[in-house]
Amino acid sequence: MSSYFLSQQGVFGATDANTQNSQNWMSSFMGLSSIFAVLGLISQSHVGSSLRLFILGTLIETGRRSCYWIVERFRIQYSITAQFNEGDPAYEWILLFITQERVWKRSREFVVTANNSERKWAVKTASDPTVVGSAEYVPTYQAPQLFRWRGHWMEIRRGNERGGNTANGVQQTARIYVTIYTLDMNVLSNLVEDARTRYAEVNRPNVVIHLMNTRIMNLNNPWNSVKRKTRRPLDSIILPPGQLDSLVQDAEEFLKSEDWYIGAGIPHRRGYLLYGPPGTGKTSTIYALAGALNLEIYSLSLASNNVDDSFLQLAASTVPKNGIFLIEDIDCAFPSRADEDDELAMPLPLNPNSMRARPARVITLSGLLNVIDGVGSEEGKLFFATTNYIDRLDAALLRPGRIDRKVEYALSTTEQTRSLFTRFFPVSRFGPEFDSPGSGEKETTIETLAADFAASVPENEFSTAELQGYLQGHKMSPVDAAGGVVAWVEQERVD
Ligand code: ADP
Repeated sequence: MSSYFLSQQGVFGATDANTQNSQNWMSSFMGLSSIFAVLGLISQSHVGSSLRLFILGTLIETGRRSCYWIVERFRIQYSITAQFNEGDPAYEWILLFITQERVWKRSREFVVTANNSERKWAVKTASDPTVVGSAEYVPTYQAPQLFRWRGHWMEIRRGNERGGNTANGVQQTARIYVTIYTLDMNVLSNLVEDARTRYAEVNRPNVVIHLMNTRIMNLNNPWNSVKRKTRRPLDSIILPPGQLDSLVQDAEEFLKSEDWYIGAGIPHRRGYLLYGPPGTGKTSTIYALAGALNLEIYSLSLASNNVDDSFLQLAASTVPKNGIFLIEDIDCAFPSRADEDDELAMPLPLNPNSMRARPARVITLSGLLNVIDGVGSEEGKLFFATTNYIDRLDAALLRPGRIDRKVEYALSTTEQTRSLFTRFFPVSRFGPEFDSPGSGEKETTIETLAADFAASVPENEFSTAELQGYLQGHKMSPVDAAGGVVAWVEQERVD
């Protein structure tokens, strides 16, 4: 469940700032009384006019402070303030909400950046014909912006929280404060619910993938980068019959059976390992599954990220309920036992400059196991890992409870190759009867071309990605694709 912080000051609640205000006001009042006392003693004199000016100034200042004090009292007693922190999903919801409510229309301060389709909350130039150019204008909301929503006055303000210093510079976490002038808590919960629904609606055609940009590591917000991919239909993943259905069913059943897990005293989590050669559809399966089940992915690639145990722990703990925590290339976390032995057996080089660089080993096996076990302590999380080399993984990692289901991905079978061809050249587009020039007596259809193509590609020798790469080169001509495949296979074997 996403969290947002709420502060509602009660009738008797007074913050330090308010106490200070009332003290200021009191001291002004005392000061004023003494001035009147002095006034009584002073008759018409040469300092009279200066004194009158002084009194007038004091009166104005006292009036100003009184008004401020009254407004503050009103604000504290009749408003609810909610805080949304960057890194929490609710922060994304509220950003989109304020963009859609066009709160930015009254903004006077913007951060201007080049167009980036990832930032859904930025004010796109296309959405406002009065603004021209190929940039985005992101309102800073440094000054509070007042707006009305469903009959309630609200104020929106943005702030930055300064964290500690790190090797990557000073950490900053953005916050958004929403103040609603009401005493009814339901208004806030309705607003958050509305923002969440809008976010889900906008992202319906996409799968949202949260990533870690380790160049700008932020301990308050480890998932600091978002990628949106067009949702991929499940039937676009070509696997041996039943493989995908059984995986989707398993995940669906898991998500539905929280009560059963609680009743049985088993942590509500499930771990999957997809393994097999590169380009066989492991990552595509997870993206398609996330799209089908409306889940967001929190993806960490151990091949490309330099993270250590504690950062990994932090990242895993911030994956929300019903999110998919994905570790790609899990074998890259640490060397296999065999590699470790090899390294230890390696003689020390005489010349230190010739020393072979050992990979930076920043994650330990026990650290990784802790993280996977820790995922179990959070309810409703799906854990997915992918690897090209299952034999490099430690048995402890593969234990049920950590990995509950292993799914093998293999190089393309004849049936997969045939299906891939018909997906590339759908009958709906190329016609059920496909007449090719010079095809002679034999009737040529997409089906016959697909069968020829599949028969020419040796089974279990090429990955689906490799075959897809070949077909992309002939995407307008199924006849060329089927005709040229024998030569391509020969060429690939030589290479
Ligand atoms: P892996 O994760 O196994 O390395 P990916 O899922 O990243 O492979 O696939 C790489 C590319 O190949 C993607 O563009 C994907 O569309 C395509 N691809 C690979 N395997 C399949 C498959 N079984 N079905 C459909 N497309 C696939």
